[in-house]
Amino acid sequence: MMSEVPEEVIQGRKILNELKKGDWPNFVREAEKTRYPVDLYGASLALKRDLFTTGGYVSVPGAPTGILMRVTSRPDIGENANIVRVLIPSGNFLTSDMLDTLCELADKYGVGMIHGISTGEDVEIPGIPKEKIRDFITELRQRGFECGSTGDAFRAVTTCVGSLLCEYSNLNTAEFRDSFYDKYNDFAKFPTFPHKVKVKVSGCPIDCGRATQKADIGIVGSWKGAPEVNQSLISKMDSEKLDNIIRSCPTGAISRHGSGISIKGEDCTQCMICVRNSGGAISQGREKQYLIYAGGKLRGKKGPLSGKLFTKVNSIEEAMNLIGTMVDIYGEQAARKERMGDLMFRIGMKNFLDLMKTKPQAHNAKDLRTNIFYSVNGEERERMPEEIKKAVGGE
Ligand code: SF4
Ligand code: SF4
Repeated sequence: MMSEVPEEVIQGRKILNELKKGDWPNFVREAEKTRYPVDLYGASLALKRDLFTTGGYVSVPGAPTGILMRVTSRPDIGENANIVRVLIPSGNFLTSDMLDTLCELADKYGVGMIHGISTGEDVEIPGIPKEKIRDFITELRQRGFECGSTGDAFRAVTTCVGSLLCEYSNLNTAEFRDSFYDKYNDFAKFPTFPHKVKVKVSGCPIDCGRATQKADIGIVGSWKGAPEVNQSLISKMDSEKLDNIIRSCPTGAISRHGSGISIKGEDCTQCMICVRNSGGAISQGREKQYLIYAGGKLRGKKGPLSGKLFTKVNSIEEAMNLIGTMVDIYGEQAARKERMGDLMFRIGMKNFLDLMKTKPQAHNAKDLRTNIFYSVNGEERERMPEEIKKAVGGE
């Protein structure tokens, strides 16, 4: 006797058919070419709740990190399965051979789908049944890959493209990531921390790598003092455009002298606004420094917290060593399942700096600027109280 199709699957298929009317590439049509349990997804949409939820991390002998369990509350529609996170080379450069191998393994063990490249800078292979996990990991390793990035360990380090492609970079982020794994591979492989630790690296304060926002430890390449000025290019610049650049400096560090400019190094916060707007006439300073942020996160006990700039160092080696010190302190002081930001929140910045043997500095102030592209100049500062009063109906 044929089993009856559940009502939510019928409703789900109607929703999926609507979604399939979208332009190519259409994710439903693409998913249907694989063995992904599309009906489970459709039924979840129909019921407005996810029937496929995370069941935590799975650890198999020899692979303590890298495997996520997906549990279905409706095994009649879709089976439990696992996702394996595969670590990939720095810079996200995968050769066609590597991709061929991962696709072959996804066909053989999973549902014939890969999620590449995830925001965590790894490749995820979904839909691997529990009984195939050990064989999958064995073959993955035999073919030159390693899994990781789950559990209470260092998650896959994520970076912006840095000096591989970007002219703004003060740091070779891919090289930094490689050195990180040379030094801290064991902490990435074995879950030994109170909770997960995410490290993110950006080549400049524009922060495409989200090092200041979502990282327990964030590293940002910067420089000391004033940016470099090419006076010849500045003198050829449209006068109004130059005035706009000067006005947009949030600290008023730039002054005009005829057709040239000067920048006060002590007033520059290395925000990159003038560098971005000057078409190469103003560029990052030559003497580099590296900003270390701590405590950023999206989830956890105290909710979302942005990273706090807690110190600046002069070399990549110092930055690398500091990561070790930070996780040592974190491991000693944090409670179970307390993220670094939650620990800092609980004990306060002063105590955190004491533990780190770092002297408090102006940049350790509680409220830091979070949006480097928004600045208020003198004239706006005058005008704003009036405008706010009007907007709220005051006198
Ligand atoms: S953070 Fe800076 S260096 Fe990195 S990609 Fe963005 S602009 Fe370029
Ligand atoms: S705009 Fe930013 S980077 Fe440029 S001089 Fe001003 S503070 Fe420094």
